[in-house]
Amino acid sequence: HPTDGKVHDVLVVGGGPAGSTVAAFTAMQGHRVLLLEKEEFPRYQIGESLLPSTVHGICGLLGLTEELEHAGFVRKRGGTFRWGSNTEPWSFDFALSEKFAGPTSYAYQVERAKFDQMLLDNARRKGVEVRERCAVRDILEDDGRVCGVRYADPDGAEREAHARFVVDASGNQSRLQGQIGGQRRYSQFFQNIALFGYFEGGRRLPPPNSGNITCAAFPSGWFWYIPLNDTLTSVGAVVHKDSADRIRGDRSQALAALIADCPLIADYLSDARRVTDGPYGEVRVRKDWSYLHETFWRPGMALVGDSVGFIDPLFSSGVHLATYSALLTARSLNTALSGDLEERECFAEYEARYRKEYQVFHDFLVTFYDVNRDEQQYFDEARRVTREAAPGAQAFVGLVGGGASNEAAMTSDAYRDQRKKDLLEQSRGIHWEGHRIQLQAAFGEAADDTPLSADGLVVSQDGMHWEKSVTVPST
Ligand code: FAD
Repeated sequence: HPTDGKVHDVLVVGGGPAGSTVAAFTAMQGHRVLLLEKEEFPRYQIGESLLPSTVHGICGLLGLTEELEHAGFVRKRGGTFRWGSNTEPWSFDFALSEKFAGPTSYAYQVERAKFDQMLLDNARRKGVEVRERCAVRDILEDDGRVCGVRYADPDGAEREAHARFVVDASGNQSRLQGQIGGQRRYSQFFQNIALFGYFEGGRRLPPPNSGNITCAAFPSGWFWYIPLNDTLTSVGAVVHKDSADRIRGDRSQALAALIADCPLIADYLSDARRVTDGPYGEVRVRKDWSYLHETFWRPGMALVGDSVGFIDPLFSSGVHLATYSALLTARSLNTALSGDLEERECFAEYEARYRKEYQVFHDFLVTFYDVNRDEQQYFDEARRVTREAAPGAQAFVGLVGGGASNEAAMTSDAYRDQRKKDLLEQSRGIHWEGHRIQLQAAFGEAADDTPLSADGLVVSQDGMHWEKSVTVPST
């Protein structure tokens, strides 16, 4: 098959948030990066409610802060829930957590066609070679190592492209994830189905909460209600598979019937009409989204974003997990490509950190689906799963804002500075010399990061590589 004759450093499959992010973060380190995307952008995608960790963390590192600011997306200060034993809606603000307090205490509700296009264009500007309408069909291997892909070009001709590393970011429908070894492990707990459409003229919460996501529980499941601009709202019902019969037949009638069962959403939409043309004109269905792949990588290849895992739309963690996995993978690729550490060690670090973040969201979501509790009980659960010292409500907001990892890249500058001071303060009472050096390094010039385990790696000062941590002598 024809090739372009080059060996790229990194070849990314898929140009969604995960693919664009990993491609940009590796190209920004001077690597030659090729990204192959099946569709021609802009293309439709669900997943419109973002978290502060993505908006201020990842997008800040990508250099997109100003462009996002001027894109006209709705500001999301937090969430409003009709959920649990409280029959009245209750709200939370991202500002409540010290991790996002100050100028970074909001996220955006985005039209994904527009947001994903921004990320992909940004990757191009950072030097990534992006080829759209190129569908990857298979991987190429050399002696057990992945060394490229086979794909169909825009004319349908079969081609090959070679690379030192292939990253599969082709999402939920990935055809390549099976090549990594192991399997997608589907959740026994989250077996939900979503039915969703778009409405013009839906009601807004009074300011300052008018940009909040609203989540409302009802007997068959729950609704999301996401304001995408002054008049357009994304509305979706998430029902357990036991209620799947409610989604059979005519989709628009099924959606109307579910709305009629949820008084809060019915009220918000009482003067609204469903959009019936253009990209928002369809009522869509999605299912089988709760899984985690057993294996994250093999020599020459890694999975990121929805290709590796997703949990559930509640708390809008999808783009956060996708872009966080992309950052962790980019660090692994940058480090392995520079020859500083073995790929095995780098990808193991990615896997350990991602699994931890996934687990926190997963475990919290399991308890949140028990609708017989009140807010305080949910907040206490958030505190338990994150092991945070902060009071329950703050631990809850820190978690659902995407800050559970405590990584500098995911939290506000002010929080990071405070954390460094706290670390130094703690070190005063500690007699292990190595540990003190490490903490002082953290406070001074070196990266503000602590290893996950005794042999774990830490984030380099530039935030884009891994390095060995200073070992703590056991006394
Ligand atoms: P994608 O966005 O799916 O991008 C993958 C890209 O790969 C696509 O552009 C695709 O065209 C391309 N591709 C696929 N196959 C190939 C191939 N063979 N060759 C080349 N390219 C290929 N997340 C949130 O953050 N907030 C929410 O409110 C939210 N709500 C959700 C509601 C529902 C019902 C569901 C199911 C998910 C929701 N999500 C939400 C999750 C979110 O949609 C995903 O987590 C996110 O889009 C993952 O990004 P990604 O880049 O991994 O994959």
